[in-house]
Amino acid sequence: MKELKKLLDEKEVKPTFQRLSILKYLEENREHPTADMIYEYIREKVPTISKTTVYNTVHKFLEKGLIKELTITGQEARYDFVTDSHHHFLCEKCGTIYDIDINCPHGLPGQNMVRGHKVEEIHGYFKGICKNCLQKN
Ligand SMILES: [Zn+2]
Ligand SMILES: [Zn+2]
Repeated sequence: MKELKKLLDEKEVKPTFQRLSILKYLEENREHPTADMIYEYIREKVPTISKTTVYNTVHKFLEKGLIKELTITGQEARYDFVTDSHHHFLCEKCGTIYDIDINCPHGLPGQNMVRGHKVEEIHGYFKGICKNCLQKN
């Protein structure tokens, strides 16, 4: 919790209990939750919290670069505590989103040009059937 408080301080976000709880949830749950999933979980710890507060907090974190947004499903935004560029795999059977830790052949963001454009972020979205679902069949 102390480290998270420092993170918020560094970004000049007032470390309220609600904000810390949301950030802690994102740190501990790397399944890339939606804002609704965050709300459902946080509500149990902090019953007074409103959905609007959760949404506003998530947007504040995004704006400050504390978390990243994924649009891999094409239907809903998912949130990621890991802000370094990494790729994602979406299982179309169970809906799980996995972090895929491979080097992108196009190089590292911030160091690369592509057809004259400067690359600052790289997102790779892979879709298919995950190893757990493959095993079940
Ligand atoms: Zn799966
Ligand atoms: Zn991720």
